[in-house]
Amino acid sequence: MTAWCRMLRDDGSVVATRQNGALRPVSAAGQPVRDLHPIIRGELLDADLELQAPVPVAGAELLAPIGSFPRNIFCIGKNYRAHALEFTTSGFDASAGAATPTDVIPTAPIVFSKPFTSVIGPGDLIEPHPHLTSKLDYEAELAVVIGRGGRDIALADALDHVFGYTIVNDVTARDRQQHHRQWLLGKGMDTFCPMGPAVVTADEVDLANTVVECRVNGELRQKASVADLIFDVPTLIRDLSAGMTLVPGDVIATGTPAGVGIGFDPPRFLRSGDEVSATIEPIGTLTNRIG
Ligand code: MG
Repeated sequence: MTAWCRMLRDDGSVVATRQNGALRPVSAAGQPVRDLHPIIRGELLDADLELQAPVPVAGAELLAPIGSFPRNIFCIGKNYRAHALEFTTSGFDASAGAATPTDVIPTAPIVFSKPFTSVIGPGDLIEPHPHLTSKLDYEAELAVVIGRGGRDIALADALDHVFGYTIVNDVTARDRQQHHRQWLLGKGMDTFCPMGPAVVTADEVDLANTVVECRVNGELRQKASVADLIFDVPTLIRDLSAGMTLVPGDVIATGTPAGVGIGFDPPRFLRSGDEVSATIEPIGTLTNRIG
């Protein structure tokens, strides 16, 4: 029942609730709560938290809502049909090996990861790494934040393990992704994982009625319903946790819809100064500019 943000103050980072356009920093036992983990793990409950005076969101410096990660961010590739088709027909999918478009729809989730060192917050600059790539692309995605960990999680129990949801921009260097024939290097560079602006608790998100949008310099490029995921959130949790323990604070980016830069002919890659805004309500809008 809460939108959790993290903001920078003079004394460092502090977790804050977002209510009606204002942030209320939280403390526990008189000390600022610096990261979301004790709340994710259930070590701090609502009753333990003291809300400080509201600060307007507009004037606050927001950070990624989670400040540290137990390991890399899990990501799912080609998880919307229309995007799987645009990716394969773009020629940049070195892993495709598919003869016809109907072969490109995955029959099991495609999983890769982004190093946690790639995470940045709302408003932070995305480094263009011009010595490494000339084909920079965006991917707006709903991301799951795991609350209760577990292994071999059953489909029916999967959503009980979700703490909440946030937005990730799975920034990608398409030439690196293609050249190395796997996805980590092209998607794992520093600043390639903008995250935020909030983690909204699971009870506030209706996955059947959640829409992912992405705008570049104000132009709508992506718009799709999370209900169109090939592998839905419970399926992803079941499959990822099969024989591998998920831990509190794990993040799973669920995949991006059609409308990425390589979906256009000719492709529309990002350039310095471009502004990318990913919107998923009620999480909000995650905006980052290319440096
Ligand atoms: Mg992606």
